[in-house]
Amino acid sequence: MNFYNYINGEWMAPSTNEFVANLSPHDQSELDAFPDSAEIDMEMAANAAKNAFVSWSRLSYQQRGDYLLKASFILQQKLDEVAIDLTKEEGKTLAEAKGEINRAISTLQYYAAEANQPIGDVISSRNPKMIIFTKRVPIGPVGLITPWNFPIAIPAWKMAPALVYGNTVVIKPAESVPKSTYHLVECLHEAGIPAGVVNCVFGLGSVLGNAMIENPSIKAISFTGSNAVGNAIREKASLLGKPVQLELGGKNPLVVLKDADIDLAVESTINDAFLSTGQKCTATSRVIVESEIYELFREKLMERTNELIIGDPMDEETFLGPSVSEKQQKSVLSMIEQGKKEAKLLTGGTAVATVELNKGHYVIPTIFELESQQVEIARKEVFGPVVSLMKVNSFEEALEVANDTDYGLSAGIFTRDMSLSQRFIDEIEAGMVHINSGTVATELQAPFGGIKSSSFGPREQGKAAIEFYTKIKTVYYNS
Ligand code: NAP
Repeated sequence: MNFYNYINGEWMAPSTNEFVANLSPHDQSELDAFPDSAEIDMEMAANAAKNAFVSWSRLSYQQRGDYLLKASFILQQKLDEVAIDLTKEEGKTLAEAKGEINRAISTLQYYAAEANQPIGDVISSRNPKMIIFTKRVPIGPVGLITPWNFPIAIPAWKMAPALVYGNTVVIKPAESVPKSTYHLVECLHEAGIPAGVVNCVFGLGSVLGNAMIENPSIKAISFTGSNAVGNAIREKASLLGKPVQLELGGKNPLVVLKDADIDLAVESTINDAFLSTGQKCTATSRVIVESEIYELFREKLMERTNELIIGDPMDEETFLGPSVSEKQQKSVLSMIEQGKKEAKLLTGGTAVATVELNKGHYVIPTIFELESQQVEIARKEVFGPVVSLMKVNSFEEALEVANDTDYGLSAGIFTRDMSLSQRFIDEIEAGMVHINSGTVATELQAPFGGIKSSSFGPREQGKAAIEFYTKIKTVYYNS
C-alpha cells in the first residue's frame, strides 16, 4: 500500500508521484511504500506551517495541550497495531516496540500537563509601580529531522514540546522507518489538530534536508542522528542564523569497580549493549573493569551473552532482532572485522547464518577484549550488538580511559563506594551519569543530552525542552 505526505491537514501524494517500499530487516519481504518526495513538497509543508503559525501560537497552552492529550489516547488505543508495524520495519522486539510507543504516549501526556505549569518569572523592580515579568514566546515553524532507531519516541519528544509551546512543525522522519512516525502524525490528525500545525514529508534527507534548512519560513532545526549529518546541518543553519539542536552519537563507558555487585553489572551490560540490537545512542559500548574482578566479570558476561536468543523480533522469546537494514548490518560487520585486527575477539564476530535467519540482517552479539583505548573499535560508534572490555588497575585509570573519547553522551559506574561515585559524577565527561545502573535508562521528565561531540544546543525532554522551543520576552509593566 502507498502512504502519503501530510501537508496542511491533508494526505497528499508527493509531487514526484514516486514511492519507495523498504524491505523487512527480518526476511526482506516488501513493506508499505512511502513517498520519495522532492524539494517542492518540503516547500509546501513549510508554507503550511508558516500559515498556521499565527492562529496556533495564539491558542492557550491548555488548548494546545488538549490536542496532545487526545492524540495520546488515540495512540494508546492503537498500541498493538503500531507496535507490529514498528517491529516489522525497525526490527526491535515487540516488547521493546511497545515500550517505545508507551514512551511516546507518556511524552504527549507530559507536555499536555506542562501546559498547566508556570511559563515565566516575576522579577522585582526598583520602581514600586513597575512589574517585570518574562513571557515565553514560540520560535515559529520548526523543522524536525529524526533517525530510524526510535521512530516514534524521538518524533514525539520533539513534536510535543514544540507544539505545546506554540510552534508549528515540519517533520522529516528517517526514510528507512517511515510508518511508525506516520502513525504518530495520524493520531494528531485524528485528534483534530488544525491544518498546517503538523506537517510530515517522507523521503531522503539528502534531498529534503537542505530544502528544510534553507526555507525562510523554518526558524529552527532540531536534529537527532549521526555526527556527520548533524555537523553539516549546524554549519548551514548557523550561516542562516537559525538555532539548531543536535543529538548525535555516543561511545558510552560503563566502569565496574572491584566492590561492585558483579551480577547486576553483567545484567546491565547485557541489556544496555545488546537490547535493540545495540542501536541506541546511549548503548553501553565500553566496559572498563577493575583487575581484581576482571576475569570473573568476563566469564559471567560471556556466559550470559552466549545464552541470548537471536531471532524473529515478532517471537516472544527473542532477545535481539536484526540490524535495521543491510547497510547497517554491513557497517557493523565491517567495524567487527576492523576490531578483529586490533583487539581480541572473545565471542560473536559474524552475521547469523542459520537457515531461519539468513535472509535477515542479523549479527551475533560480539565482545572484544581491548589492550588499548587507541584503536578504532574503542573510539568509533558501532551502533550494533558489539561491546568492548578493558582491564584497568584503579579508579583513576578507569576514569582516564572512560574520558578518552570525543563523545560525552552517557556513562555509568558500578560501585558501593560513595566517595568514588561522587568523584565519578564530578569528573566523568558525560551529559548523563548513572550510578549502579547502566548507560541507557532515561526518564522523559529529566533533561536528555550530552557534552563534547555528542550534542549541541539546549537539552531535550522534561522542562529543559522549553529552552529550545521558545524565546524569552522581558516585559516592564508600569502599573
Ligand atoms: P543519520 O544518517 O544522520 O540520519 C538521521 C536523519 O537525518 C534521517 O532522517 C536522515 O534521512 C537525515 N539526513 C540524512 N542526510 C541528510 C542531510 N544531508 N541533510 C539533512 N538530513 C539528512 O542517522 P541515523 O543513521 O538515522 O541514526 C543513527 C545515528 O543517530 C547514530 O549516530 C546515533 O547515535 C544517533 N542517535 C542519537 C540520539 C541522541 O539522542 N543522541 C538518539 C538516537 C540516535 P534519511 O535517512 O531518510 O535519508
